Order: sequence, then C-alpha cells, then structure tokens
Amino acid sequence: MTVYLNGEYLPESEARVSVLDRGFLFGDGVYEVVPVYGGRCLRLEEHLDRLERSLAAVRIEPPLDRAGWRDMLTRLLEHNPGEDRSVYLQVTRGVARRDHAFPADTSPTVFAMVNALTPPDPAVRETGVAAVTMPDTRWSRCDIKAITLLANILARQQAVEAGATEAILMRGGRATEGAASNLFVVGDGVIVTPPKDQSLLPGITRDLVVELAADHGIPLMEAPVTEADLRAAEEIWLTSSTKEILPVTRLDGVPVGDGRPGPVWARMMKHYQTYKQQLREG
Ligand code: PMP
Repeated sequence: MTVYLNGEYLPESEARVSVLDRGFLFGDGVYEVVPVYGGRCLRLEEHLDRLERSLAAVRIEPPLDRAGWRDMLTRLLEHNPGEDRSVYLQVTRGVARRDHAFPADTSPTVFAMVNALTPPDPAVRETGVAAVTMPDTRWSRCDIKAITLLANILARQQAVEAGATEAILMRGGRATEGAASNLFVVGDGVIVTPPKDQSLLPGITRDLVVELAADHGIPLMEAPVTEADLRAAEEIWLTSSTKEILPVTRLDGVPVGDGRPGPVWARMMKHYQTYKQQLREG
C-alpha cells in the first residue's frame, strides 16, 4: 500500500511519524473518510467542506487548498488502483515538544491512506443488525470530526461485547447518533433524523439520504428523536460512508417493528445503490 505523508507518496512500511506528533500525544487532529466508487469520490466537495470546517474549529491552518486536496487524492488513488475503496485522511497539529497550548511555527502532519471498501454482508439485508443504547459520554463538540475518539471506541466495544453491531448514544433523553454513524427512525411512515447541531457529526451519508428522500418524494423530517420515539420506531437505520444504510432490527434485545429490515429502508437503499451506480458510470 502506498500512503501519502507530508507531500510524499511512500510504501506504508516506510512512512514514519515522530513520537512527538500531537496526534499521537494528544489526539490533536481531525480526519475524513471518503468512499470511492469506480475511481470516483462520493460527495468529494462535501467531504472537503467538512474537513475545512473541522480544521477551522480546532484552529489548524489548512495545509492544502481545494485544488491541492483534489490533486493529492487523485494521485494517491492512482498509486492504489482498485474498484471500491475508501480514503482515510488525517491532519494533526504537527510535531512539537509536549505542551497543551499550540506550538509556534509547527506545520501540520498530513497523512492519507486507501483501504478496500467492503459492502455490508448481504445477510444483513435479510436480517438487519442489533444495536444497544447507552449514555453519550462524549464532549460537547461532536460536530467536529476529531481523531480523539476514546468515548466512541468505548461505546462501540461495549456494543460488540453485548453482541451488537453499533451503540446508539443517548443525551438528555434524546438519541443523537451511533458511535460511528448517524441515526434515522421511521414512525407512522415518516423518516426522522436528528437535526444537525453540536451533539452529532454532520454525516455526508446522512445528508445524501435526506436529499434522496426529497428527490423521490419520501416524507422526511429533521427533528429530535426521543427515547420513546426510538423504542416505538417501525424502522431504525444507521448511516455512514463505509456502512451505507444499515437496518437495525433489534434494539437492546427487543425486535424493531416486525424484526426485519423495513419497506422504507428497502426503498431508500435502492435509491442509494442507484446513486452509487450512477457515480461509477460517470
Ligand atoms: N457520526 C459519527 C460519530 C461518525 O464517526 C461517522 C462516520 N465517521 C458518522 C456519524 C457518519 O458520517 P459519514 O456519513 O460522513 O461517514
């Protein structure tokens, strides 16, 4: 695998980052994950918009401009040919003697790698997945795509140990999102997803699902999802760039709806697959 590190394209085994990198010492950085279908990045400009917002929020000067990001991604993908892939891209504040306050005159560390993108197991389309609820113990700027993911990791691990695929996080009596995914519920035939604020990551897949619903006349509301809404939902879905739209059929051990992926999910999934196919075909 060829990776990108600070302007160079290198074999992964030769890429080196200092132990004084603030990403390593503090988790002081931000990241993006961009899915690539048939050589084309899905919603690239939206991913770069979010990267720029994350960088601005943590006050890291953008190390590359738009053209620079696009060029780097194109070259990195050329070095790592394949069909469906995803690019992981991270920017840290850089290498400096350890001190919480920002170092002077340090340039950011920019790293990117390409991973295979494996679509969800086809069995999931039949059975769905299990999720468990738990308190959202994260900080109050969940809208920033920070590499500091300890609370998300602990939540996901707890879910896995409970035999589930994802944790659904609860804050102030409301469900915010998954440990690494956005949340949708269907109640009375209407899709509901929590509005974008500082309590959740503005997912690119989330926004695409909202747009596809509008394009195809499927009723959707951006509104808070209470614990009661979640438990009464006919359908629950989780979205992310790598998981697409995942139907949740068991919540805390209790079947969701009739315990099978629902009809609204099937309809949305069809539109999502068509969107991907159109991207592949250019
Ligand atoms: N929320 C969180 C906390 C996430 O980590 C992710 C994926 N990284 C998402 C939502 C989904 O975002 P996207 O659709 O952009 O992958």
